[in-house]
Amino acid sequence: MVLDLTKYIAAIPDYPEKGVVFRDISPLMADGAAYREATNKIVEYAKSKDVEMIVGPEARGFIVGCPVAYDLGVGFAPARKKGKLPRETVEAKYALEYGESALYMHKDAVKPGQRVLVTDDLLATGGTIAATIELVEKLGGIVVGTAFFIELDDLKGRNKIEDYDIFSLMNY
Ligand code: 5GP
Repeated sequence: MVLDLTKYIAAIPDYPEKGVVFRDISPLMADGAAYREATNKIVEYAKSKDVEMIVGPEARGFIVGCPVAYDLGVGFAPARKKGKLPRETVEAKYALEYGESALYMHKDAVKPGQRVLVTDDLLATGGTIAATIELVEKLGGIVVGTAFFIELDDLKGRNKIEDYDIFSLMNY
């Protein structure tokens, strides 16, 4: 059965601030058939790229990436906010609308030469995914693709990661 996955995305006007339409993936996750179908599509994409490892940023990157890793029988490594990882880390900073943030990965999370798929729920300006890619590359991994449930076309995040292959299930 082919589901229309857009039916499982809620649009929340003026969240988290006025003028922004937040795309909420929780109805999709809450529906077993829809979550499985979205996951299966990314699994097929990952297979076409011979992926050996999956990396996703905190927290919704885990929701997308972990079931794909399980299905493929490959590992998953998290990119996390400051102070969450207990061992030695690498850091990548990225710009927010106001100020700056950073993501971290354990130094041994990806092996040099490993073929990595980077996952997140949504591509907006591309800052989060660009920082995650930077971390994977600092560790010597090869980013063979990126996968998202949703891409917000107007925010042009794909321009920030134009050297990488992008697979999005839904575009707004
Ligand atoms: P970017 O760094 O590309 O500007 O923003 C993407 C990050 O912010 C993702 O990690 C995503 O989880 C979160 N994000 C930004 N806007 C939305 C939204 O409308 N819906 C959801 N689900 N996440 C968003």
